[in-house]
Amino acid sequence: MEGGSSSKKRVVVIGGGVGGSFVAKSLQFFADIVLVDPKEYFEIPWAGLRAMVEPGMAERSVIDHVDYFTDGTVVCSPAVDIRDDAVSVADGKVIPYDYLVIATGHMESVPRTRTERIAQYQGEFEKIKSASSILIIGGGPTGVELAGEIVVDFPDKKVTLVHRGSRLLEFISPKASQKAFDWLTSRKVEVILGQSVDLGNTVNGIYRTSSGEAITADCHYLCIGKPIGSSWLRGTILKDSLDAQGRLKVDEHLTVEGHENIIAVGDITNIPEIKQGYLAIRHAEVAVKNLKTLMTGKSGGKMATYSPGYALALVSLGRKEGLAQFPYVTLIGCVPGMIKSGDLFVGKTRKQLGLKP
Ligand SMILES: Cc1cc2nc3c(=O)[nH]c(=O)nc-3n(C[C@H](O)[C@H](O)[C@H](O)COP(=O)(O)OP(=O)(O)OC[C@H]3O[C@@H](n4cnc5c(N)ncnc54)[C@H](O)[C@@H]3O)c2cc1C
Repeated sequence: MEGGSSSKKRVVVIGGGVGGSFVAKSLQFFADIVLVDPKEYFEIPWAGLRAMVEPGMAERSVIDHVDYFTDGTVVCSPAVDIRDDAVSVADGKVIPYDYLVIATGHMESVPRTRTERIAQYQGEFEKIKSASSILIIGGGPTGVELAGEIVVDFPDKKVTLVHRGSRLLEFISPKASQKAFDWLTSRKVEVILGQSVDLGNTVNGIYRTSSGEAITADCHYLCIGKPIGSSWLRGTILKDSLDAQGRLKVDEHLTVEGHENIIAVGDITNIPEIKQGYLAIRHAEVAVKNLKTLMTGKSGGKMATYSPGYALALVSLGRKEGLAQFPYVTLIGCVPGMIKSGDLFVGKTRKQLGLKP
């Protein structure tokens, strides 16, 4: 790929998830933007579990990059290397940059096209609908939200949730964990804590937990944390900017340690806060301001700073209820449900991307 033909600076954004998509969208008329992502679409992550029980949701939550990013280039291939002035992607292209944004929060193996992704949700829906019993492995936000979606839409299914830790939702307070546990068990979800499941040991729909307990289920969902999308950075110029957890070390301007023209946003950063999409959007806003400052020298060259977010978390429990942890209070039921669980912020996120809700 040749360098940009216009006089605009070239910004390459790696990762078309929450942070990267918002940076690309916000800067598209200001710079020559290239968005690098292995898939052709942005997906609203917090709507994915609803899409498994209501595939129509995916029509709104899976959005082709070209629908909101109309004035730039999408390169549909994972980035594999970074040099001082260019990024290489798996299909062989080399993309020069003036500024680089790294937003590869999490790597997940998903289909390349929107059509395939929507069909995948339809397949999950059919699988859940035809199962009598379902095993969910993992009691973090994904496992808890999936259990909530299934028991609310399909109350007759037998749902078992096995979690390795001593409490659900370990990223929030023990009080909030207990409320989630009580909510699920009151809806007849069998919650097994302190155990794991060895999937290699499954025979004829009988799963074994680490203590040898047998669980019969027609299907299972593995809801364990997705790996951080940074392993590919270990062979690049950014290898020394990674911390022990594989997160990129950034300063208060979100500039990557040791690289003045490289910014990181979202879950891949080492900012000490709960990793959340609304914070990735706040990072994107700071990144956009700072890239504009860097490109124009305006604002007297004064860069915007980012302060870590509060420990705020919202976990949906089906369509109407939810669990919220605010700085001083934890709430469960319809009030937090009203904030998130109805539309799961899909309309709001689409509007932020300049699309019809
Ligand atoms: C079930 C669930 C519910 C959630 N609920 C909420 C919620 O209610 N509110 C909230 O604020 N947050 C929520 N979150 C968290 C939120 O989704 C994440 O914090 C957010 O997605 C992080 O954004 P990101 O841009 O850092 O990374 P991601 O959104 O993970 O995007 C990373 C992107 O990078 C791409 N990528 C990876 N590797 C490469 C590579 N080598 N080259 C190019 N591209 C690459 C991926 O394809 C992906 O598009 C939830 C998460 C889950 C799983």
